[in-house]
Amino acid sequence: MKAIVADDSQVMRMIIEKIVKTLGYQAIHAGNGQEVLSVLEKGFKDIDLILLDWNMPVMNGLETLTRIKKIDPDCDIPILMVSTESEDDKVRQAMHAGAGGYISKPFTAETLGAVIRQVKEKRSV
Ligand SMILES: [Mg+2]
Repeated sequence: MKAIVADDSQVMRMIIEKIVKTLGYQAIHAGNGQEVLSVLEKGFKDIDLILLDWNMPVMNGLETLTRIKKIDPDCDIPILMVSTESEDDKVRQAMHAGAGGYISKPFTAETLGAVIRQVKEKRSV
């Protein structure tokens, strides 16, 4: 399985990579939303999970999410927003844009793992 790990912090990407690896995902790093779209251009079918940081330069997570849903409205890849912003309003905005889940930074490996499993289950129902 492959997961796109998008965050402008390389340290954060490495932390997330370590966690998703234990869940069986190979991580593809992206430093901003534009890089996420470039990966997806090569093929949606290959990707099993997308983790999007909200605050990134060039293209932020919310815009990336919106673009993905515009490019492929039937896209059923679980997309998780990862953010330091934890206000209800932001969470609502992300869910409205089609996020499968939302996780606030900082998080533990257990929490992230649980949210990813939850999102996968929702998808398979
Ligand atoms: Mg960031």
